[in-house]
Amino acid sequence: MALLPVTLIGDKILKKKTNNVKEVDVKTIELIRDMFETMRNANGIGLAANQVGADKSIIVIDVSVIEGNEETKPIVFINPKLTHFSDKKVKIEEGCLSIPDVRAEIERPESVTVEYKDTEFKDQTLKADGVLARVIQHEYDHLQGILFTDLISDDLKKKLNKDIIKIKKRKVDFQYPVTESVDYQIA
Ligand code: ZN
Repeated sequence: MALLPVTLIGDKILKKKTNNVKEVDVKTIELIRDMFETMRNANGIGLAANQVGADKSIIVIDVSVIEGNEETKPIVFINPKLTHFSDKKVKIEEGCLSIPDVRAEIERPESVTVEYKDTEFKDQTLKADGVLARVIQHEYDHLQGILFTDLISDDLKKKLNKDIIKIKKRKVDFQYPVTESVDYQIA
């Protein structure tokens, strides 16, 4: 197991749609383990593969540290697809390990259905609401090359711009390993 550096806003791999996984081999399992370790070390509850520089459609989520979600087991989503959204939308404050210490309220559907493959490459379907639904949507966006800061108003973007520039220039006291170059990518 290894801690991987986390990619930051401005890094190229965060702006592109990730590739689908064709098979789960030893390297994939190793990547998933490293993603969990990297996420937990940074006190995160969700992580997408391109946040550790891997061009793969993989998400790991563990919301069990959030009050009321203690029973929710860690989940790995391979090649996830969101197939249904509730009409009801809710505003929840989001943060992101790739945009440390920046937070914003984002409106998204309250519940979603996600189809994905598990680590045995079997088809799975999950209907999620609450925190889990929120994290799934945030991480799914990562796999499409979308950050939550792409979803906020221009006014708020202007307000957050100074902080984002500091992150891009690595002029922040990072609490976990981060990438040194915008071109960082692992095999
Ligand atoms: Zn994020």
